[in-house]
Amino acid sequence: MRFCPKCNTRMTPKIVKKELVFTCPKCNKRVKSDSTIKEAPDESLRSDNVIVLPPVKTTVGECSRCGKGPIAKLIMQTRSADEPSTIFYRCENCLFTWRDYG
Ligand SMILES: [Zn+2]
Ligand SMILES: [Zn+2]
Repeated sequence: MRFCPKCNTRMTPKIVKKELVFTCPKCNKRVKSDSTIKEAPDESLRSDNVIVLPPVKTTVGECSRCGKGPIAKLIMQTRSADEPSTIFYRCENCLFTWRDYG
């Protein structure tokens, strides 16, 4: 979870050009996450037209990079609701992000 450095509003994660970017809904400030999506993104990820739902804490296991956690589950949907949503997991400890293919 990120807070806006300007107005301290909780920021919304978005995938912009394959990168995870946090956007402030109040003042529109953007902060790039240190993590990038490791897997080759599919067509829906190339669009800015995606919605990322707020992360949900999960007990999905350990991070494959740092072996710790907690792991947050991110659900990403395209605005054309006929496509299935994409699920990502992000380690809140080292911000490593990976995609759920299950
Ligand atoms: Zn702000
Ligand atoms: Zn980690």
